[in-house]
Amino acid sequence: MRLTICHLYPDQMNIYGDRGNIIALSRRAAWAGLEVAVRRVELGERPDFRTFDILFLGGGQDREQARVARDLAEVKGPSLREAVEDGLALLAVCGGYQLLGRSFITASGAVLPGIELFDASTEAGRTRCIGDVIVRSDVAGAPRTLVGFENHSGKTYLGARAAPLGRVLFGHGNNGQDGSEGAVYRHACGTYLHGSLLPKNPWLTDLLIRRAVERRYGPAAALPHVDDEVEMRAHEAVIARIRARGKLGKGAT
Ligand code: GLN
Repeated sequence: MRLTICHLYPDQMNIYGDRGNIIALSRRAAWAGLEVAVRRVELGERPDFRTFDILFLGGGQDREQARVARDLAEVKGPSLREAVEDGLALLAVCGGYQLLGRSFITASGAVLPGIELFDASTEAGRTRCIGDVIVRSDVAGAPRTLVGFENHSGKTYLGARAAPLGRVLFGHGNNGQDGSEGAVYRHACGTYLHGSLLPKNPWLTDLLIRRAVERRYGPAAALPHVDDEVEMRAHEAVIARIRARGKLGKGAT
């Protein structure tokens, strides 16, 4: 079985180790016995996004977001939305996540269009949200924790039709006010968590891979369990560090 991972705007949208998410997806898929290809998609290209199995879009500062926003909304948006409706597994981080909502109003007042995959709107805040984050998420069907690192000034507010990726146990998440973090629509996840995110959260890596395999090869496709002991040690170390500071309540395991 073969999986093609689309790395969208790898040159423009790639900060705080976001590329590590591509490495984690590629390695864990290969360890599960899959053949993996990574296809970089840049400004101006107009691929049929349904042909991809997993799509990753990283973060970027306002300047990079301004460079890609119109291309994303006008050139790629329709095909990308169709692919998500078709069940494409997608992960977008921070600046990339913001551009999958309705719009992002930057600190200078520019309105960057989003592709409206998520019913969410973002506007620049006056303070930055920076630091470790711990989130509780049910996206895999049972409560799990996600650990990561956030650094954003944008505050994202979900509309009535959006579901969060999870609830913040520590950190700021979408806006530092309502306790929500990220957004989910079908098999697309948006999040503020850098880190890289996937190396420290192998269960989310495996969920994206499993969903991609099921979409392409059907529910009968049985994937072997891939050892995640080292990855989970990294995951738990983040939680232990925050707990040692006396800043974490119950719920993070
Ligand atoms: N420019 C956006 C913000 O600060 C996104 C930053 C990022 O991707 N880390 O809100």
